Amino acid sequence: MSTPQDPNVREQPAVAATGSSREAILSTNGLKKKFGGLTAVDSVDFTVDEGEIRCLIGPNGAGKSTLLELITGQLSPTDGDIYFDGNDLTDMEPHRRMDAGISIKFQSPHIYESLTVEQNLRVPLQRTDRDIEAVLERTLARIALAEKADEPASDLSHGEKQRLEIGMAVTLDPALMLLDEPVAGMSVDETADIAELIQSLHDDGMTFLVVEHDMEFVRKISEQVTVLNQGSVLTQGPIEAIENNEEVRRIYLGENA
Ligand code: ADP
Ligand code: MG
Repeated sequence: MSTPQDPNVREQPAVAATGSSREAILSTNGLKKKFGGLTAVDSVDFTVDEGEIRCLIGPNGAGKSTLLELITGQLSPTDGDIYFDGNDLTDMEPHRRMDAGISIKFQSPHIYESLTVEQNLRVPLQRTDRDIEAVLERTLARIALAEKADEPASDLSHGEKQRLEIGMAVTLDPALMLLDEPVAGMSVDETADIAELIQSLHDDGMTFLVVEHDMEFVRKISEQVTVLNQGSVLTQGPIEAIENNEEVRRIYLGENA
C-alpha cells in the first residue's frame, strides 16, 4: 500500500507493535473527535493490517463506537486523517467509503423488523450492480439463515438478528468489516456461531476490526488487541500480554471480573 499523502503512516507505533510485515489497510493519524467540551477520541494513531482480525476493547465511554463511526464517516473528525487502502478518506461521504470497501455492523440494531430476512439482505444491494440473486444465495448460506429467508426478521432470535445484520454488511463484500459488539447479550452457542462466521469470512480474505467486551470471544478470534481508554490508545499487543497488563486490568478487566 502506498500513502503518498503521509510518508510516516507505515512508521506509526501501532505497526511496530504488531511486529507484522503485513501492509496497513487502515490508518488514522492524530484522529480527534470532540462533542462540545468532551473529547471522545483523542489524537489516535491507529493501524489495522490487511488480513488481520483486530479487537478493540476498553471501558464504556472509551470512544470505541465513536472511532468506528469516524472510520465509516457517520461522524466527522474534529482533527486528524483516516487512510484506507492508500486513499485519504477523511472528507469522503459514508456511501463512498462503503463503495471503497468498508462495511459496519453498528452497536445499535439496524435491521428492518417487518421485512423478511431476504428483503433485509436486499437493502444494501439496492444501489449496486452486483448479481443480486447470487449474492443473496451466498450470503444466506454464509450466515446460516437460508431456511429462514422468507421469515420476518421480527421472528428471529437475538443471535440470528445479529447474524442477519452482519450478513447485510457482508453482501457488499467489504475488504474491511467493522463490528461493534457483535456478541453482546448472546448465549455461549450464539457467540460460538459468530466466532465461526468471522473466522470463515476471514479465511475468505476479509479484514476485521471488532469492538467487544467478551474476553473469551476476543481470545478466540483475535491475535492483536488494542485497548482504548478515555479516547486514547492505552496499549496494544497480543491477547496474553493485554490480559496480564496491570493497567489494563485496573481500568478495564477488573470491572468485568
Ligand atoms: P464506547 O463505544 O467506547 O462505549 P462511545 O464512543 O460511544 O464509547 O462514547 C465516547 C464518549 O463520547 C462517551 O462519553 C459518550 O457519552 C460520548 N458521545 C458519544 N456519542 C456522542 C454524541 N453523539 N454526542 C455527545 N456525546 C457523545
Ligand atoms: Mg460503544
